[in-house]
Amino acid sequence: MTGAGTGRGANQPQPHGSAYEEHFHAAPSGHLVLAADGTILEVNQTLAAWTGRSREALLGSNVTDLMPVGDRVVFASYAVSQLAVSGCFNEMAAELLSVNGEPVPVLLSGVRSEDSDGTSVDRIAAFKAAKRTLYERELVEALRKAEAAEAARAAAEEELRHKQAAIVEKDRILQANLVESREREALLASVLDAVDVGLLVVDPDGNTLLSNAHLLSNWRRAMGDIPITAKGQSVLGPDRVTLVDDADSPAQRAAAGESFSDQLVWFGTGEHELALNVSARPIKTEGSFSGSVLAFSDVTKLVRAKAAQDEFVASVSHELRTPLTSIMGYLDLALDEDGLPPQVESALNVALRNSERLLALVSDLLSVASGATKMDRRPMDLAEIVRAGVESVEPKADAGRVELVSDIPASLTADVDPQRMSQVVDNLLSNAVKYSPDGGTVTVRLWQDAQAVHLRVEDTGIGMSIAEQEKVFTKFFRARRAVASAVPGVGLGLVITKNIVEAHGGKLSFISSPGQGSEFTVSLPLNAVNAEEISPAR
Ligand code: ADP
Repeated sequence: MTGAGTGRGANQPQPHGSAYEEHFHAAPSGHLVLAADGTILEVNQTLAAWTGRSREALLGSNVTDLMPVGDRVVFASYAVSQLAVSGCFNEMAAELLSVNGEPVPVLLSGVRSEDSDGTSVDRIAAFKAAKRTLYERELVEALRKAEAAEAARAAAEEELRHKQAAIVEKDRILQANLVESREREALLASVLDAVDVGLLVVDPDGNTLLSNAHLLSNWRRAMGDIPITAKGQSVLGPDRVTLVDDADSPAQRAAAGESFSDQLVWFGTGEHELALNVSARPIKTEGSFSGSVLAFSDVTKLVRAKAAQDEFVASVSHELRTPLTSIMGYLDLALDEDGLPPQVESALNVALRNSERLLALVSDLLSVASGATKMDRRPMDLAEIVRAGVESVEPKADAGRVELVSDIPASLTADVDPQRMSQVVDNLLSNAVKYSPDGGTVTVRLWQDAQAVHLRVEDTGIGMSIAEQEKVFTKFFRARRAVASAVPGVGLGLVITKNIVEAHGGKLSFISSPGQGSEFTVSLPLNAVNAEEISPAR
């Protein structure tokens, strides 16, 4: 430091080499002596080093040259005016620009004093403020974090509000669904109670989940307070005699997941007995069995009426047979008389033929109405029986211009009731001829394979529609065309035929197509089961 020639007395830095000067230059703070216009009159080594410049380079330059624009403005407006007004300023934060452009953050304080010659100088002290800035930065950082946290909290609050609104909306929807499901439940309950069938829903353990009023009232009338699903109660089969095993009772079958239709069972006894026709369907929830719905129709009256009808038919047929047999006997006797006038003989023959038809009809009625009939099976030549059947239908076939084709072996022995089997052959052949009103061909085949003996009667007649085929084994059923074209018959032949075949342990099957013809096949297994009786037609 020179200071020489400045003549500044007590305010002047001490002469070079003095302890004061050493202290001045080596102080940890920066020091400047400025003229009133900011010209640097003196600067210590420390500050010069901060800026990366030499003291000599700094002397004579303006202090504001060391500051960025913003700080220059603040220095001019704050520090300079404070010095002018109060002679000092404190802790102005500023930056000094180093030679390579790096800012050096500092805190500046200054005092103004007058030289002995009356010129004023400003003494400025600069303290490095890097730490303080860092601290401020941290503060700002912390402030930002706090602001961010506050923003996050506000966002979370907003989200919470949204969620709460969503919950409120869900709650509203749930309430609405609840109301709707209650309405549905009420509707379902009304429908269940209004329908004319009993309905029962059981879980896989057979416990009742739901039942309707119709079922309950019918059931209570017959069975009192016993639950319909209770095990161990006596359930009778369609014949009203055979006890149905627990596992085969409708409720247990349904609980086991079985799907079935039309199981006829009887409950109760005497005037309280109840015939129920039961169907069941399993309930699947997401693919697994979760219970079953059972529908019960009360068919007690219907079954009783049917039984009464059968009884009536049986007794009327029985009553008719006796006088009819007597009439036929007397007609035979009369026809045996010699020398009858031809017209009388022909009239008697007509009467006898019609009586025979009537007797056949009465026998058919009896056969389906009177229940089990004993079979008399023995080894017989079935080929012979079939040939006889073909022969007896020949006149009718000729009259209807139907060609009969036989494919029958010379002999084929089977364990059959000969009379009953003749009836089967006659029924099938006479149907085939009857229902070929425009002529055609009827083919009869008889053969045997490893399992069974087969008899097939095939015609090229009117055939049957699908709806007719479904009813063909129903008593008294006759197709509309059969009735319309006045083909004689009462709709019992096939019922009887089927019963006889089944009583032999065999099967009667058919295929038919309208306008093309039909084909009926009887198959009698060689090791025929001992189904000895013809059961009453269902
Ligand atoms: P019926 O011949 O006395 O009427 P069936 O029990 O033998 O009684 O036959 C029942 C009904 O089945 C007949 O009325 C007829 O409509 C139909 N049917 C039976 N066989 C044949 C056949 N071969 N072709 C066409 N329809 C047939």
